[in-house]
Amino acid sequence: MTSINKAMSIADNLVHVYERIEKAAQNVDRDTSAVHLVAVSKKQPMEKIQAALDAGHRCFGENRVQEAQEHWSTIKPNYPDLRLHLIGPLQTNKVKEAVALFDVIESLDREKLARALAKEMEKQGKILPCFVQVNTGEEAQKAGIIPADLPDFLTFCRGECGLDIRGLMCIPPIDEPPALHFAFLAKLAQENDVTGLSMGMSSDFEKAIPLGATYVRVGTGIFGERS
Ligand SMILES: *Cc1c(COP(=O)(O)O)cnc(C)c1O
Repeated sequence: MTSINKAMSIADNLVHVYERIEKAAQNVDRDTSAVHLVAVSKKQPMEKIQAALDAGHRCFGENRVQEAQEHWSTIKPNYPDLRLHLIGPLQTNKVKEAVALFDVIESLDREKLARALAKEMEKQGKILPCFVQVNTGEEAQKAGIIPADLPDFLTFCRGECGLDIRGLMCIPPIDEPPALHFAFLAKLAQENDVTGLSMGMSSDFEKAIPLGATYVRVGTGIFGERS
């Protein structure tokens, strides 16, 4: 994989991933345009990020606020149609910077954060679409709402906080078949009246698409190994 990614250009890698998305969608008669590609640019050099921008890609994911600022603060104003997704844990003391920089928050995972986001969005006059991260494997070390707590949490986010909840996000346990978790997340979304599903990474996005992914988050599959 690494050597192929190195030999191929970022533009070629992007085309290849788009093609794989299209094929996975067509296989199950899904509309390809319903599946969005979040290019995960964390720990990647600016030349590669610029190459993806030059190839016309406009949707990127970062998992840390500070690194995202280093990557994007200067160049984001040059790309008005750029969409930046926060896909990693957000500390409440970074909410101000996160709301200022990002367009979508995918890692909403606790009440304190929901409150802080709602307050900061009101202050900045922005309404960012949010995804609730679900800890589908109930792993102790992993962020996310425990599935049994999801209905109450969604009620809290939508009602008390007035947040715009667009979907659910998950990162399956590394030692379990991801498709089980994708199917579970899809079921939770259906039961709770949310439509968006952010699931699937470089190694498993083709499994997530038949199960309803509307966003896949691909890093190494586009940019190669992280530094
Ligand atoms: C890093 C990361 C990805 C991308 O992983 P790859 O295996 O490089 O595609 C996707 N989602 C999250 C939450 C990540 O932190």
